[in-house]
Amino acid sequence: MNLLNGIAASSGIAMAKAFRLVEPDLSFEKKSVEDVQAEVERFQAALIKSKVELEAIREKARVDLGADKAAIFEAHLLVLSDPELVNPIEDKVKLENVNAEIALKETADMFITMFESMDNEYMKERAADIRDVTKRVLSHLLGVQVANPSMIAEETIIVAEDLTPSDTAQLNRQFVKGFTTDIGGRTSHSAIMARSMEIPAVVGTKSSTKDIQNGDFVIVDGLKGEVHINPSSEIIKQYEEEHAAFEAQKAEWAKLVNEKSYTADNHHVELAANIGTPKDLEGVKNNGGEGVGLYRTEFLYMGREQLPTEEEQFEAYKAVLEGMEGKSVVVRTLDIGGDKELPYLNLPKEMNPFLGFRAIRLCLEEQGMFRTQLRALLRASTYGNLKIMFPMIATLDEFREAKATLEEEKQKLMNEGVVVAEKIEVGIMVEIPSTAVIADQFAKEVDFFSIGTNDLIQYTMAADRMNERVSYLYQPYHPAILRLVKMVIDAAHKEGKWAGMCGEMAGDEVAIPILIGLGLDEFSMSATSILKARSLIRSLNKADMEKLANEVLQMSTTSEVMTAVHAAANLER
Ligand code: PEP
Ligand code: MG
Repeated sequence: MNLLNGIAASSGIAMAKAFRLVEPDLSFEKKSVEDVQAEVERFQAALIKSKVELEAIREKARVDLGADKAAIFEAHLLVLSDPELVNPIEDKVKLENVNAEIALKETADMFITMFESMDNEYMKERAADIRDVTKRVLSHLLGVQVANPSMIAEETIIVAEDLTPSDTAQLNRQFVKGFTTDIGGRTSHSAIMARSMEIPAVVGTKSSTKDIQNGDFVIVDGLKGEVHINPSSEIIKQYEEEHAAFEAQKAEWAKLVNEKSYTADNHHVELAANIGTPKDLEGVKNNGGEGVGLYRTEFLYMGREQLPTEEEQFEAYKAVLEGMEGKSVVVRTLDIGGDKELPYLNLPKEMNPFLGFRAIRLCLEEQGMFRTQLRALLRASTYGNLKIMFPMIATLDEFREAKATLEEEKQKLMNEGVVVAEKIEVGIMVEIPSTAVIADQFAKEVDFFSIGTNDLIQYTMAADRMNERVSYLYQPYHPAILRLVKMVIDAAHKEGKWAGMCGEMAGDEVAIPILIGLGLDEFSMSATSILKARSLIRSLNKADMEKLANEVLQMSTTSEVMTAVHAAANLER
């Protein structure tokens, strides 16, 4: 098969050689061996190869990612040379006449079980180190390759079953030109990150890891959702032309970078950006973002071994607030859970993580962690225009409790003589249908709403946003979703509050005309979508879009809505 179809997750076209980021097959059989000395030597050779490999990775990590990340590989090297682990493996080979693979596995498993059962964070981390090192040594014994993404040093298309947000965060933007995965949807967090990193991506192809080998030449078409494997020279030529056309279109949009966002009849809306780290600010500026409508702070907590300190958080929030030079910055408190895990919190596995102990539910329980974040935010508040928003609010009680905790921390800081901004707007994400339905009640108490359609759609349609098999139910223009959105916007306006949207729907060209008609005040999206959205908004007439919105709210299917929007807003596709 040399054409795969998937979900267009991040626009653009990328062409490069494939790099498989896939778990290798490390299965083996237990064997008895005659020449135990040769077997021990085979094991020692695998140890040396692992050591050389790890030293190279540690060096590269130190240069590219800093001493912090390199320390992980330092710990792995220590495990490799620990006689307490190595000697029993060699003894087992010699005394039991077994192959090195089984001696390694059984010995390592014994230590892993022992360390994991200890009530001690440090020992639990050692268990994780042993597991990683065992995998590496086994791969050398079996002659298969463990993927080392940190060693990528040429232009590459990453091929993976799935990419976790922390895998994605560690991708080197210089070399990783695109990615394709077997699973995932347009609103899975790896897709969202690909958009903010401007890396073209196609997800949910079902079989990328089966059909693509290391070194294959691959085209990722993040506009159509296609992946071409070892394409003909005609297809490559055609894509070179499409790539040039896409770049020319982007250059056209780029002319709007310093413009404000007005409709043709002079109605102003705010086009803000979603960011994951202070590094994303460059993209916000280059794409003319009028503010930050969603700062997903959880990325500060990921790809590391323990919680970030108050000081580290303060520095990150301050950098974003200062960087935005007084423009509005909506910071969302920690939204961990679903597809964003923090292994070091050691939370039990759940049957339905998207419906589980996550986001504000976790923060209200883990008070220490929550308060540290709130303190860091409050301390940073004097460096810009900070707004704080709580995720996954399902009940008014949750909001009241979160807000009261924020007030307590504010009082404490002020008592300590720390200066905190006088007025900080406090709002919520509307991403659970219960909250949308009683938005009128919430509107009396919150300063603003930001509609999180990625989750609101998954909960309203009962369709996991990660699951490509039900991705057809991810229907932003379904009248049920549009009615919920209307309820939220109307409720906010009735109380003199503003309503924004920070789910991916806010940057969707079919949704935008309807949202303009419904009166949405702020649209927050991947920075790379802003200029295209601005160009579209400038062509729309608010009064006409109000008429369109009223019509589509009375329709019964997504396709009817799409047809109506295409006609009213003159969309190309
Ligand atoms: C959302 O749910 O729409 C949202 C913006 O939050 P996240 O995608 O981080 O869950
Ligand atoms: Mg969400």
